[in-house]
Amino acid sequence: MENIVKTEQLYEGKAKKVYATNNDNYVIVDYKDDATAFNGEKKGTIHNKGIINNRVTNHLMKMLEQNGIPTHLVEEISDRETIVKRVSIVPLEVIVRNIAAGSLSKRLGLDEGVKLSKTVLEYCYKDDDLGDPMVNEYHIMAMNWCSKEELDLIASYSLKINELLTDYLKDLNIELIDFKLEFGKTADGTIVLADEISPDTCRFWDSVTHEKLDKDRFRRNLGGEEDAYKEIMKRLLGE
Ligand code: UDP
Repeated sequence: MENIVKTEQLYEGKAKKVYATNNDNYVIVDYKDDATAFNGEKKGTIHNKGIINNRVTNHLMKMLEQNGIPTHLVEEISDRETIVKRVSIVPLEVIVRNIAAGSLSKRLGLDEGVKLSKTVLEYCYKDDDLGDPMVNEYHIMAMNWCSKEELDLIASYSLKINELLTDYLKDLNIELIDFKLEFGKTADGTIVLADEISPDTCRFWDSVTHEKLDKDRFRRNLGGEEDAYKEIMKRLLGE
């Protein structure tokens, strides 16, 4: 591949910075150690989180690509930086749930850890000022956030990703409780998986002890978040 280099910073989010490059089709993401929760109300740092999330995301996206899911991944270029395809993000957070936890437990009065008899898909509109409100297919169509065909594809990719991740993680003694996905559209209109798949965006529980190995340690002041992130990297990447 040609030499891709950073040019100007396009965007700084809560956990990542995004840079333009000398090639219009690519951007570089740079993962930070900053941690936030409750829509930015709680702030902190998780030492080396950026390195772990970069490597874990790329590892999982490679596995998904090998199993037929198109992703934005191009090439990891350093501990914290990855070249990805430039996409326009579909402004939805797709939440996939296997086991009740977090906001679902609250909303429906379910104990955390109760297995759902079927996988649940939820959509939230990505807007920090509005607190990412939950929306349904009718809102998405009415607001033209994507087409019906695109939403059907996003839903079918999300369910397939859930199967692939659940099976992959089971062998590592990790239970996939729930997770959040984002999708983007490349210049030629292809829908690809974007953003990240990491302990920031997934609930991972140890299959045997049910210990939380994800951002809930930070959200809920449980302590041990650095070790939990490290443990996930060790189980996935062996280091
Ligand atoms: N999630 C996320 N970003 C968000 C909201 C949720 O990555 O802005 C992930 C979260 O880590 C969990 C899943 O989506 O794995 C479901 O989160 P939930 O709706 O239960 O919200 P929470 O309880 O985390 O506020």
